[in-house]
Amino acid sequence: MPENYTIAFLGLGHMGGPMAVNLVRAGYTVAGFDVVPSALDTARANGVPVAASAAEAASGAAVVLTMFPSGRHVLDAYRGSDGGPGLLAAAAPGTMFLDCSTINVDEAREAARLAIDAGHRSVDAPVSGGVVGAEAGTLTFMAGGDPEDFEAVRPLLEVMGKRVVHCGAHGAGQAAKICNNLILGASMIAVSEAFVLGEKLGLSHQALFDVASAASGQCWALTTNCPVPGPVPTSPANRDYQPGFAGALMAKDLKLALNALQSTGVAARVGPLAAEIYDTFAAEGGAGRDFSGIITDIRDKSGARDGAGNVPVPGRDGARGTASTHAAQDDGSPE
Ligand code: NAD
Repeated sequence: MPENYTIAFLGLGHMGGPMAVNLVRAGYTVAGFDVVPSALDTARANGVPVAASAAEAASGAAVVLTMFPSGRHVLDAYRGSDGGPGLLAAAAPGTMFLDCSTINVDEAREAARLAIDAGHRSVDAPVSGGVVGAEAGTLTFMAGGDPEDFEAVRPLLEVMGKRVVHCGAHGAGQAAKICNNLILGASMIAVSEAFVLGEKLGLSHQALFDVASAASGQCWALTTNCPVPGPVPTSPANRDYQPGFAGALMAKDLKLALNALQSTGVAARVGPLAAEIYDTFAAEGGAGRDFSGIITDIRDKSGARDGAGNVPVPGRDGARGTASTHAAQDDGSPE
């Protein structure tokens, strides 16, 4: 990489905006661009220099970093659409194309092939850690590409993240991301079903948490992002499921996982079902809620009552009992 090079940072949205700010603060020269004028205004106000177009930003850069909503956006921007020049054509030969968007593995491989065929270099490096991690510079990057290309972008990734893992060849970063989120989505559904089952069986949230968090049911969905309020005070359940990690993003990532499961022929059953469950959750009002809010859907559809740590015992002196002191009775009355 040349000295004092410029990074074209394209896609200054929820994630890209603060990531670009961190690069500027670390002393990198950034030329930002977004198709949405308000994103450009916010970037400018936060000290990120902006270019007049994506092509202009790319033409003077050694690194073209994209942070777009989908693979279609990435491929269209690389190739050019609506008659405009593509980024691959606008960039000088040997430019590093670093895509941090979350996209299909096949699309990531296609993007890398296009970049290399055009005489450039390519690394896919999707992230986890959300907007909070983007702002704090504590993202986790999962990278795919040639080892020397990964080493070339590692310093940039370490500015924006606290953990950077080279996962393998082109597309391996996206593969790691969707495999992880398949585990996460499926485990959150399982944890939520277990809590609702516990409510039905008269088990307090705290009792189930105390056992499972120290037993073989232990997982991040339980111990960090616990879907019921109380046991983990920092989990989104304690703030009415404000994200966090929004249901729309979990639905998107599980759709990417589903595509990969189907294209590779994995005999998966839980993954496709998890994708369907989160698709419905997002479509029915959960898009902007934390993905752990899936528990409220499960509870509603189960006729169970929200325990908030206490399983109600209807009809007992007009008051709620608790599972720690009483056996729950399910008379089907609404909570
Ligand atoms: P976002 O929609 O807020 O930002 C994307 C930006 O890209 C938008 O501002 C859009 O205008 C811009 N854009 C689209 N096409 C463009 C083009 N051709 N040129 C310039 N700008 C263009 O999305 P986000 O939340 O910042 O997420 C970005 C990516 O990161 C997604 O792939 C998402 O799945 C992934 N991600 C998001 C989170 C999260 O918590 N938001 C967490 C991990 C990963």
